[in-house]
Amino acid sequence: MGRPAELAIRVGWYLIKNRVLLRKKRFPLVTMLEPLEACNLACEGCGRIREYESVIHREMTTEECMAAVKEAGAPVVTIAGGEPTIWKHLPELVRRLVAQRKFVFCCTNGLLMGKLFKEIPPSKYFAWVVHLDGTGAHHDKSVSRTGVYAIAMRNAQKAVELGYRACSNTTLFSGSSPEDLHSLWRKTTDMGFEGAMLTAGYDYQSVPNQQLFLKRKAAVEVFRKVLDPTATQGIRFYNNPLYLQFLRGERSYKTCTAWSNPTYTVLGWRNPCYPLADAHSQELSDLMKDSVWDRYGNAEKDSRCANCMMHCGFESTTILGAFSNPKDAVTMVRSGALTRSGMTAG
Ligand code: SF4
Ligand code: SF4
Repeated sequence: MGRPAELAIRVGWYLIKNRVLLRKKRFPLVTMLEPLEACNLACEGCGRIREYESVIHREMTTEECMAAVKEAGAPVVTIAGGEPTIWKHLPELVRRLVAQRKFVFCCTNGLLMGKLFKEIPPSKYFAWVVHLDGTGAHHDKSVSRTGVYAIAMRNAQKAVELGYRACSNTTLFSGSSPEDLHSLWRKTTDMGFEGAMLTAGYDYQSVPNQQLFLKRKAAVEVFRKVLDPTATQGIRFYNNPLYLQFLRGERSYKTCTAWSNPTYTVLGWRNPCYPLADAHSQELSDLMKDSVWDRYGNAEKDSRCANCMMHCGFESTTILGAFSNPKDAVTMVRSGALTRSGMTAG
C-alpha cells in the first residue's frame, strides 16, 4: 500500500482553507499525541524519558486523546511518546481516529509492533513510523541496546508484507555516518517503505551527553553529505524538497512555525513546542498567541532555538512559505512533494 493520494488532497485543501480562505495566522497542521512518556528503551539522546521522569507512570485515556485531536482539528495525527506500543489503549485510539478518517502516524522503536498486527488492521489512514538511526550497530548504539535494529527491521518487514504503510524516522546526531544512512534508506526503500523521514537532533538540556548534538553549522555540513543528490539517487524521502534544502543550508527562514505541530502530553499541550516545554497549557489556543511567538522561534528571541532545525519546527515553515512564493510552490509540485512530502514529526 503506497502513500494515499487522499492525504495530499485533504492536507492541501486544509491548508488552502485555513491560510487563504479563513486567513488564519496560526493553526495546527499535525496533532502530536504523547499518551505516555514511558518507554521500553532508554536512548542516550532522548529528552522525553528524562524531562517527564516525575510523571513517567502517567498515561492518558483514549477520551483525552480524542478530545485533544478534536480541539486541534488537524487532518494528520501522530502518536508518539514514550513508546506508544506499550500503551494499552493504542488499538482503540487508532480505530477511532481511522473511523474519523484522520491520517495516523504511529512512531515506534519497532520492538513490539508485531504484537499489534492482529489488533490494528492495515489501512490507508494508518502508517507505522519506525525509529531507525542507522543500520546494525549504528542504530543499536543510538538506542543504547544491542539487537534492537534486527528486531525493528524484522517487524517492519512483516508489517510491509501484511499491507501496512511504513516509513522510517531518522535523527541526525554527531556520530551519524552518511554512508551508513544511505545503506539504511536503500534497504528500507527496497523493503517497500513509503519514505525516509529525516530530522536534526535537538540539544535537549535534560540529556547529560551534549556532545551527541551537532551545532547548526556542523549539522549543515553533515546534512550536505547525507543528502548528496548523487549518493541518495533512488531513495524516497518523506520530507519535502524545500525542507531538505533547508537542512543542506541552501535556504533559511526567519522563524520556525512550530505552532503548526502542537504536542499534547500527559501534562497538557507543550508550550511553546515539541522540543521546548517551558510550560504546559490546558488550552491549545494559548499556543497560538502572539505573546508566545514574540518570545520563541529563532536565536534572537531565545538562545535555545539557535541550533534547532527540527522538522516539527521547520518543515511546515517551508510548506507555508511556498504559499507566498510561487517559485517554491513550483519546486514542491515538480518534485512530486504533493505525493511524498512529510507532515509528521517526532
Ligand atoms: S525509543 Fe524514542 S521514546 Fe524511547 S527512549 Fe528512545 S527516543 Fe525516547
Ligand atoms: S526554533 Fe525554537 S520554538 Fe521553534 S521548534 Fe525549534 S526550539 Fe521550538
